[in-house]
Amino acid sequence: MVICPAVLHMHGELMRALCGACGARWDAPAEMAVADACPSCGKAATRPDVVWFGEYPYHMEEIWDAIRAAELFVAIGTSGQVYPAAAFVQDAGRAGVETLELNLERSDVSHDFDETRQGPATELVPAWVEEVLAGR
Ligand SMILES: [Zn+2]
Repeated sequence: MVICPAVLHMHGELMRALCGACGARWDAPAEMAVADACPSCGKAATRPDVVWFGEYPYHMEEIWDAIRAAELFVAIGTSGQVYPAAAFVQDAGRAGVETLELNLERSDVSHDFDETRQGPATELVPAWVEEVLAGR
């Protein structure tokens, strides 16, 4: 099994800033305001570099490529109600990728997973990792 070490921040990063005028990104200062000047274009359009409702998530093509190339797709802690992430399990299933849901309770998309396990992530995830590392 190949485990991809990359993290794709589809909803952005709170510790990063984004210029709403030119799209420049930089490390967020401890305190940030809309009136702060963009270090690239100088305009006062600073905002957190996070995806808000109604905005398109980042890295979607990379995410879909990673899902299609995966041997196993695991969702940990999801309501299964917010798209497009809620459809990742269906994308994986169409690509023939094995799917596993680790969740406190059944989600709205539990029926799309090959296997679901319910319980606290603090218990389910370490147990699952042990299984994976043991080759079970
Ligand atoms: Zn700018």
